[in-house]
Amino acid sequence: MHHPTHLIHRDLRRTPPVAVCAFGLQVRDSAGNTYLDASGGAAVSSLGHGHPDVLAAMQAQLKVAAYAHTSFFTTEVAEELGDRLAQDAPGDLNHAYLVSGGSEAVEAALKLARQYFVENGETQRRVFIARRQSYHGNTLGALALGGNEYRRRHFEPLLMDVARVSPCFEYRERRAGQDVHEYTANLLQELETKIIDLGPQHVIGFCAETVVGATSGAVPPTPGYFKGVRALCDKYGILMIADEVMCGMGRTGTLYAFEQDGVVPDLVALGKGLGAGYQPIGAVIARDHVVQRLRAGSGVFQHGHTYVGHPVAAAAALAVQKVIRRDCLLGAVTVRGAAFRRMLREAFAMHPHVGDIRGRGMLLALELVQERDGKRPFDPDLQVHAAVKEACLECGLMVYPMGGTIDGRRGDHVLLAPPFIATEADLQQIVARLADGL
Ligand code: PMP
Repeated sequence: MHHPTHLIHRDLRRTPPVAVCAFGLQVRDSAGNTYLDASGGAAVSSLGHGHPDVLAAMQAQLKVAAYAHTSFFTTEVAEELGDRLAQDAPGDLNHAYLVSGGSEAVEAALKLARQYFVENGETQRRVFIARRQSYHGNTLGALALGGNEYRRRHFEPLLMDVARVSPCFEYRERRAGQDVHEYTANLLQELETKIIDLGPQHVIGFCAETVVGATSGAVPPTPGYFKGVRALCDKYGILMIADEVMCGMGRTGTLYAFEQDGVVPDLVALGKGLGAGYQPIGAVIARDHVVQRLRAGSGVFQHGHTYVGHPVAAAAALAVQKVIRRDCLLGAVTVRGAAFRRMLREAFAMHPHVGDIRGRGMLLALELVQERDGKRPFDPDLQVHAAVKEACLECGLMVYPMGGTIDGRRGDHVLLAPPFIATEADLQQIVARLADGL
């Protein structure tokens, strides 16, 4: 099947298989092939497909009110979701603003951050600091922020001033023999130097994925890294923005990944797992002081999209939150994530092309290398990640590989982000098919 006039899939040269039905961890295409969903799409489907509670909540809301524009109304369901997110977020992250996806959430966080300073007359603050080899979304602002030159290069010059620092990526960037604390301290030193060089009075904030997802493959921070970042943001009066679009909403075993790093950012972007694939929805969660400043100033967040606070999307997200709580899925992520990691180690620790097995909770990855004992990445021209994706699909497995050269660093990895409801048997099956695919 080929539709040369359609632009709904971004690769204009080929048409992907047609998904006709999905339930639990299974997706079936129109040719009758079934795939085991080990990637949750792109780390989205945390409850698997066709979850009855989410479907029921959406259906009920559709009957009550499918849409209400926020310039006229709010809805009970959007308010309840906002309350729920505020209640469950740590510290004084007490304010939720609902949008329609991850990139929109990042954009809204950037705009909130900018307005926070403009309300204070600090219009000279123009620069965000972000990290290389990161991904924050595909809209022009989020793209400017992201550290993936391959994605950016068709669109330069981008809309915003972004300064970049090194990612926290032990496996690739910590020197042999270098102490992990020294490695972390050097990264924090680099960030501080960057802030000073730019002039702290020109900087709005620092934005990072707590656990780096797509660009680098489930890369967790080193111990103390984000505490150090938090301290620098406080020292220089700039905002700390956590992009938890992929790693948030329970994916790592706590509702927010940064809870495991003992910090509270000023702004948090959510997407993906918030709607868990049932509806496009994202959110920005903000701390008290951010909202208080807007309230004391113009009193309006100068933002908004037609679908913000969409009631059916809110109903889906609220149902997802309730299921996560009722079925103790955070605990399940921790326990089964550890089991999954063990299975991956057993299967691949001696694999000639697996150099690292890493991640947090149910956000795990394998790093693919030329030979196990070295870290030498594959030649980017080989497009190993793409080949692995295809091979796994042929084995009936959805995984999310990425790689090549991203912001000057070579490497290929396979990201694994199965639904939280995956059983041990499902995970065994995933590992077996992955072994075949690899
Ligand atoms: N931030 C991160 C960390 C992401 O992984 C993504 C999506 N891959 C986004 C932002 C953008 O989200 P969306 O694709 O929903 O716009």
